[in-house]
Amino acid sequence: MNGLGIIKGLGVVLGHFFGTYLEDFRWWRKGKKRYYTAEGIASRSSKDAKGIFTVQYPEEKLPVPEEFRFIPFLLYEEKDGVKEERCTSCGICAKVCPPQCIWIVRTNDPTTGRPVPEPAEFYIDIDICMSCGFCAEYCPFDAIKMDHNYELAGYDRMKTNIYDKEKLLQPVSYYASIRPTNYAVEESARAEAEAAKAAKKAVR
Ligand code: SF4
Ligand code: SF4
Repeated sequence: MNGLGIIKGLGVVLGHFFGTYLEDFRWWRKGKKRYYTAEGIASRSSKDAKGIFTVQYPEEKLPVPEEFRFIPFLLYEEKDGVKEERCTSCGICAKVCPPQCIWIVRTNDPTTGRPVPEPAEFYIDIDICMSCGFCAEYCPFDAIKMDHNYELAGYDRMKTNIYDKEKLLQPVSYYASIRPTNYAVEESARAEAEAAKAAKKAVR
């Protein structure tokens, strides 16, 4: 029958409309908050969600999975209040980056003229970066990782979207907080490698 699909569709909309109020009432009776809470967002995102299932962004945000990746950042360790950058300016990330949006300025020791294993400057053009994660995958020093922060809008691309070293650097603790599983795996591999190195030295 002509128009049956429209009637069915309207029925679905009305079901969600009234379901929202019913569900809100149930949560209110239980003394729980259905909006702006992690529990509420999880409930509305589940397959059993009743009524409204949309997220009230930007007041509410869906949690991102650990492997979510958006724009890389550089890592530094904090030792006795001093920032130690992990990046050695080897340039591998810049070489493997498909759209070539990383550029690094290396530096030499003014006395010896030898290269210093730390970049003088490090830039990523975040408008060109396609968040592929190659840089993080290929970095031999775990010095560059993919971020979770996706709220990066700005008004002036040249001022806000070309990230320099200062803007890219984040403490290792931040990395551990957004990617705890990866961090634990890497730290245990690092500890193992160091123990093997120490054992080799002891044999000599
Ligand atoms: S981030 Fe990693 S791959 Fe890129 S220059 Fe630094 S150490 Fe090399
Ligand atoms: S995530 Fe991909 S595109 Fe972005 S800087 Fe790294 S290698 Fe380049």
